[in-house]
Amino acid sequence: MSSDPLSQLIAALATGAVKIVDLSQPLSAQTPVIGLPPPFAPSAPFSMQTISRYDDNGPGWYWNNISMGEHTGTHFDAPIHWISGRDQAHGATDTIPPQRLAAPACVIDAETDCTADPGFLLTRAHVENWEATHGRIPAGAWVLLRSGWSRRVGDAFINAGPTGPVSPGPDVACVRFLVEERDVAGFGTETVGTDAGQAFTFEPAFPCHTFMHGAGRFGLASLANLDQLPPTGALLITPPLKIEGGSGSPCRVLALISA
Ligand code: MN
Repeated sequence: MSSDPLSQLIAALATGAVKIVDLSQPLSAQTPVIGLPPPFAPSAPFSMQTISRYDDNGPGWYWNNISMGEHTGTHFDAPIHWISGRDQAHGATDTIPPQRLAAPACVIDAETDCTADPGFLLTRAHVENWEATHGRIPAGAWVLLRSGWSRRVGDAFINAGPTGPVSPGPDVACVRFLVEERDVAGFGTETVGTDAGQAFTFEPAFPCHTFMHGAGRFGLASLANLDQLPPTGALLITPPLKIEGGSGSPCRVLALISA
C-alpha cells in the first residue's frame, strides 16, 4: 500500500476500515423551523415544486424548484449569521476557506441528562469532566452535544412551552471556555439551533451565537446520528452551499469514522 495518506484513506474507505456516517436530517415541508416572536420576521419552511417529471413539462427528466430559509434543517451557521460576527473576514458561506470545512469532532454524550431535563445546560464542568476521560479538546475541533434530541418528532422537537422553547444547549461560561480556552472550530447540536431553547433569557442572550460567531467560529444545528460517533476520532465534513454573502445553509454533514 502507498504511504501517501490520501491513498491510505481511499483504501480504508474501499475496505470499510473507515466508514461514513450521515449526520443530516431529511429535508421536507415537515422539517421544523425555529420560531421567533413578533415583531421578528419568520424563516420560511422548506418547499418544493415540481418543474417536470417525465411529463409534458419535460418528458425525459425530473427536477424541482426548492426554497427555504438558510437556517433550515441540518445546517451550517457562518460567522456573519450573528451581529457579533458581521465584520469577520472570510465569514460568509462563500468566503470561508475550504480547509476549515473538514475538522475533527469531540462528542459529548449528555443523552441521560437531556432525557431527565430537556432544558439541560452544558457547563464548563461537564466539558472538563469529559476531558478527564477522553483528553483535552484539541484546537480546531468541533464540539458536538449529543442530546438524543434528533429522535424527537413533531412539536416535541421545538418543545415550546409557556416560557418559550425548552431544549438543551451550552451556558454562557461554557461557550466562552470553548472559544477562548479550547479554540474550537464550532459547536454543533441536535436541536433546531446551537443555543438552548431558553437562551433568549441568558446574559448575553444566545451566547453560542454571540461568542462563536464573534470569534469567527461556526455552528451546526439539527444534527442526527451522533450516537454513531466515537467520543473522539471522527472527521467532520461540513461544507455549506457557496451562497454569495450567505449567513449559512442547509448542509449534508458527513463524519468519517474508523470502523
Ligand atoms: Mn442557524
